[in-house]
Amino acid sequence: MAEREQLNGKLLYEFNTVAAMVEIYCKAHHKDKPKHTTCDDCQAFLDYACTRLDRCPYGQNKPTCNNCPVHCYKPHMKEHAREIMKFAGPRMLLPHPIRAIKHLLAERQPVPGKPEQGQSNRHLRKAKQAD
Ligand code: SF4
Ligand SMILES: [Zn+2]
Repeated sequence: MAEREQLNGKLLYEFNTVAAMVEIYCKAHHKDKPKHTTCDDCQAFLDYACTRLDRCPYGQNKPTCNNCPVHCYKPHMKEHAREIMKFAGPRMLLPHPIRAIKHLLAERQPVPGKPEQGQSNRHLRKAKQAD
């Protein structure tokens, strides 16, 4: 499993955007948890999203996951991601206006073709460690 600290650049920015959306979603849907925490299910989703970002074959050139032709998420996680985005997307503008606008602009970018080999964050990190 990848850790947030292992991400950088666009991948880290995107992870933080997902985390902000999950926080909005969790706060509204899972009220039985201690205040200012994320419930176990939402945390598990975030950990999963972090690993997907770390392994994303597009690396720093990734499209938004919503527009991705590969879509590496397992079907139930993909569905869960859709649910979170649908709820939290329109609620992002007030607490996180810059993130919300950047995400909307990214959604309009052309979808890249097949990813080049060895561009994932995980791959580049391992190659660096082996140097
Ligand atoms: S492969 Fe596609 S769905 Fe998976 S993390 Fe990369 S952009 Fe998102
Ligand atoms: Zn939750």
